[in-house]
Amino acid sequence: MMKLLHEREEIIKYSLKMVKSALTTGSGGNLSIFNRSEGLIAITPSGIEYHELTPNDILLLDIDGNIISSSNSTLLNSNLQDANFNLKPSSEVGFHLALYRKRSDINAVVHTHSPYATTFACLNREIMPVHYLVAFAGKKVPVAPYATFGTRELADNIASTIDDYNAILLANHGLVAVGKTMQNAFNTAEEIEFVARICYQTECIGKPIILSDDEMDKVIEKFKDYGSKEKS
Ligand code: 13P
Ligand code: ZN
Repeated sequence: MMKLLHEREEIIKYSLKMVKSALTTGSGGNLSIFNRSEGLIAITPSGIEYHELTPNDILLLDIDGNIISSSNSTLLNSNLQDANFNLKPSSEVGFHLALYRKRSDINAVVHTHSPYATTFACLNREIMPVHYLVAFAGKKVPVAPYATFGTRELADNIASTIDDYNAILLANHGLVAVGKTMQNAFNTAEEIEFVARICYQTECIGKPIILSDDEMDKVIEKFKDYGSKEKS
């Protein structure tokens, strides 16, 4: 039985959803799931077209970035630079690992280049609560300072901006969403793209009305049990 088969299949399912929902183009973006009880992270390979992915292409790593062989499940004592595999883990593996180290409450990370969120990222402008659904991220969506993709500097900037937000913008790059599950992280990426679009559209024809801090407190409180079944 292939290690972390469920997580690998989940990553492929949401990779395809990410393309279908136009949250990215080409091989842009990346996804991972951390199985904390196994101590293993499943992550998309670098530079691969999503529709070509099979479970075998999803790489497994430990929290220090050591690659675990998928076929025989042995830990190779090599770091990412020395590893000699056909497929390399996402170039952004550094920030995925940094987020799992920083936030013990999250088990999934989704990185997109979705067009409206990226528009704000390219203005280095945070997304304010113009629509209550910004609560998927928090009271706003902050911006992590720019650094070249795939660098330690970008991982550090993301780790120091995330705080307890569930989504942040990456200046001149895109968006990162985190969650308890892949479904949570993906939904957040999708809803924040919607809010970014609404924010852009409102500014095209007028001046958006920004929700107050108190109102956002109420929304965030209501979100805690939104969608859960009523106790009988
Ligand atoms: P990877 O294909 O290496 O995951 O890179 C895509 C990306 O979005 C870099 O920021
Ligand atoms: Zn990217």
